Amino acid sequence: MTDCIFCKIVNGELPSETVYNSPNVTAFRDINPAAPVHILIVPNRHIDHIRDPRAFEDDVLKEMFQVANQVAEMEGIAESGYRLLFNYGPDANLVVPHLHLHLLGGRPLGPMVARR
Ligand code: AMP
Ligand code: ZN
Repeated sequence: MTDCIFCKIVNGELPSETVYNSPNVTAFRDINPAAPVHILIVPNRHIDHIRDPRAFEDDVLKEMFQVANQVAEMEGIAESGYRLLFNYGPDANLVVPHLHLHLLGGRPLGPMVARR
């Protein structure tokens, strides 16, 4: 996808603080972190979001979760704990239409969703 910012990060056309990359998956720091550790894990190949059937081809999701666990180790939060999440659709505030798994940690994150 020529206009996709995460494709551009994967291809090195946009700068990012990349912490891990493999032939299939890249992980880089979120530009607007919501926690001391906030890293996005993305497939190198463009996939729109978690409802895109391409997400379920090959072992894309499996590898993304494996990378998330590995990056959590590298960031020193494997023991203290972390949260992994996908957003989808307006209620969840999906903004960037390239599949990305959020890895959040480094402080107590509180309840999963604000109650109101
Ligand atoms: P989402 O709301 O799930 O679509 O999350 C998109 C995330 O991408 C947000 O947390 C943004 O801060 C992050 N983001 C947007 N542009 C960039 C960028 N150029 N580099 C790193 N993270 C980005
Ligand atoms: Zn893309």
